[in-house]
Amino acid sequence: MSKKFKTKSMIDKGLNYTDNDSIKNYNHPYEPYHIQMLLMDHIYKLLDNDEQHSKIGIFESPTGTGKTLSLICSTMTWLRNNKKKALSSSTESITASLNNHPDDEDTEPEWVKQSYKDDILNEKINNFKILEDSINKFEKTISNGHSSSAVFNSLNETQNLGIVKKRKLQHIDIQISKDESDTNEDNQFILDNNAVEDTSKTKIQLEIQTLLSKLDDKNNNNNNITNNLQQPIQILYASRTHSQLQQFSSQLTLLEHNKTKFPSSIFPVSKEKIKYLPLGSRKQLCINPKVTKLNNTELINEACKNLIQSHDCVYYENIDNLPMEAIFNEIIDIEDLNELGRKYKSCPYYFNRHIINLAEIITLPYQLLLMESARESLNIHLKNSIIIIDEAHNLIDTIMAVNKSVVNLSDLAICISSLKLYLAKFKKKLNASNRVNLLILIKFLNNLCKFIVKNFKINKQVNPNDILQYENSDKINFHDLLAFIKATKLPYKLQSYIMEQDKSQQQINKGTPLLFKISKFLQSLTNPSVEGVFYFSGENQLEYMLLEPSEIFKSITENCFKLILCGGTMEPMNEFKEKLFPYVPPEKIMTFSCDHVISDNNLQVFIEKDSAVNDINRSIFEFTFGKRNDFKMLESLGTYLLNLFKVIPDGVVLFCPSYQFLQTLMDFWQKCPNDHFFKLNQLKKIYSESFTKTNTSDSPLNKYQERILIDRKPAALFAVVGGKLSEGINFQDNLARAVIMIGLPYPNIFQSDMVIQREHIMNKYSDNKKLAITETKNYLDNICMRAVNQSVGRSIRHVNDYSCIYLLDKRYNNPNIKNKLSGWVKKRIVTDNYQYKNLSLQEYDDKIINSTRKFFFQKKLE
Ligand code: SF4
Repeated sequence: MSKKFKTKSMIDKGLNYTDNDSIKNYNHPYEPYHIQMLLMDHIYKLLDNDEQHSKIGIFESPTGTGKTLSLICSTMTWLRNNKKKALSSSTESITASLNNHPDDEDTEPEWVKQSYKDDILNEKINNFKILEDSINKFEKTISNGHSSSAVFNSLNETQNLGIVKKRKLQHIDIQISKDESDTNEDNQFILDNNAVEDTSKTKIQLEIQTLLSKLDDKNNNNNNITNNLQQPIQILYASRTHSQLQQFSSQLTLLEHNKTKFPSSIFPVSKEKIKYLPLGSRKQLCINPKVTKLNNTELINEACKNLIQSHDCVYYENIDNLPMEAIFNEIIDIEDLNELGRKYKSCPYYFNRHIINLAEIITLPYQLLLMESARESLNIHLKNSIIIIDEAHNLIDTIMAVNKSVVNLSDLAICISSLKLYLAKFKKKLNASNRVNLLILIKFLNNLCKFIVKNFKINKQVNPNDILQYENSDKINFHDLLAFIKATKLPYKLQSYIMEQDKSQQQINKGTPLLFKISKFLQSLTNPSVEGVFYFSGENQLEYMLLEPSEIFKSITENCFKLILCGGTMEPMNEFKEKLFPYVPPEKIMTFSCDHVISDNNLQVFIEKDSAVNDINRSIFEFTFGKRNDFKMLESLGTYLLNLFKVIPDGVVLFCPSYQFLQTLMDFWQKCPNDHFFKLNQLKKIYSESFTKTNTSDSPLNKYQERILIDRKPAALFAVVGGKLSEGINFQDNLARAVIMIGLPYPNIFQSDMVIQREHIMNKYSDNKKLAITETKNYLDNICMRAVNQSVGRSIRHVNDYSCIYLLDKRYNNPNIKNKLSGWVKKRIVTDNYQYKNLSLQEYDDKIINSTRKFFFQKKLE
């Protein structure tokens, strides 16, 4: 344990660390900031706790505070310490396996049992050593300029590693079935006539199937040694976007370049490599040009499965050409993995499955973690995994989106006509069973159309049984129908055929693969979660929405070893507890909200006065939906901003609650007698986010950045909360010396999903109306404040950054609202100071302007 990190400031701040306490050497590449140490301490403690204490951690660490490095350093240090322990003693698992051994006799002497345990342990350690040696030798040979595959072969021959088996898949000659079929090019679109009914298989096909399954067994045996090398605990790091995952791997690379050593867990190996594996979808990792050109996730998935089945993907057939050492030799990202796949002509997507057990730290997009089918496909095991979900402020929305399904009349109509076209074209080539199933599907989709037409009423909830029984639909066996769709790959075949037709005829809709969408809806319909609801929305649309994400998420929470939700803006944290873990006692959830790394005087937060009498020139700001067209308030806002723009240097980012409000504001200022738009534009050139898509090079954001960073002239960017610019964009330094929130961005309560959610909460608390109203309000406040925290968090991006935040609506003073602000923002609210309390509105404004002027003057001097 190092004392290197026990700094004077930590002792001064009364943190009461003792020599034996939680200050550990987390192998951070730099001297960590105090708040980074606190975060790493919390994470390490969570991992070290036994499960009864706490298994879930919710951590907030603002952007720019080195959150990713803190996550990596604390979890990797714990992981290695834990592995070292597991490999240095006869662990419980070995004892358990000994006790379960069928030949085991209680009468066996203790020394026999101990010797057996030692053997197992030694074999494990030895396998881990071989793995390290193998990676290191590969690295040396690469740096000596030898061919990697030669090394691979020599390692394989001399060491009989097993880990790096060159499994030559035997190619089964399936000429027989090819001969039996037509050579017509349309064959690619025809449903497999044997997909549903096994009884129709010929003897020779059954023999081939048996042979294939034997080969599969053989291949599975070949992987046994790889399976034995399962890491005791693995870190699964999930984030929402590709760029966030890229950032994670670049931080790992930084650790490698800094020669940061996490403690080796294998004696006598002094330097143990970080074994990192980036997982991705087929869309990201497929290297077969025939498949990648499809450019659609569902089509790519199905096309891949199709090619594998017919042994037509050369990259899958050559899967073991890719040496695992090439992946673990250094930190690689998805693009590198693609490169390696191309170099060795081997599929990186499927290769990942083979070596996943060896990885210590794995990254993957949210969707792959949240979908059980994707987890199975990638061989992801939750047990013994530390799951880190980063940028988790989006987690609830993502779970809802993954589980949502929707159909509308026009999609259904297109799908029905496509199916009819398909049936007419191929009916002679389809067997009776497939023809009947297609007719049943068409019949049901017709019934669904009629049901929508007859019953549509916006926001009306629908009982799924009413749909399933409509016009004799209850006679349909939906289980069989779904099995038929899946087994025959109908959505893929249909879509491929339609796309082919579209090429020549240009008349059939080629947009989203509709039958994929519709079969997802059918699955929800036949297997709805009790927490889900069907309802009418939009224009003749039928939607399925999950109301309580906790049940779906439960399988992850319960099966993993530890779960960490982390993000730059996790407030209001209670929302996660209520929505994702309502069945977990709150004291079993560890929460921690980090302060920012900036010093206290790098940020000032101002809130509109909570109560005051409107004066003749100024309305108090309260941009409720009903008051957004109050022209006096819009005029007051224009004057207020003019005064602010005069004292804030460089760039200012302003957030409005909606596109509609932004448009109203701009229209009003352009027409108002005070010429506000002209005056504001003179002080800072105005750029405004538009609802319609613009070219990237032509976007308001690009122009704004150019003006500030290249022309070095002041500008103001008007954006919309929840729009394109409120998340994922850094407005650091001069790009945002101030962030101004105009109003509170509540969701539109008349939107269908909001109506249904509100009804759900009211029903949930139907025996206590007052509580139901409070909970509904709380639900809407949470959505609003999550968006506010995201938007204001754009301004401070690193330790030396400085900025002012203005919350222009008196409702921000409401304790329910204020308490949902991120901790680091809340603690810097200047206007909570008693000196502001008793001022008139004019005096209050003057004080804010003066304070702002002083703040930036001071910063200029520093
Ligand atoms: S096996 Fe791999 S390379 Fe081949 S189609 Fe599937 S994902 Fe693409």
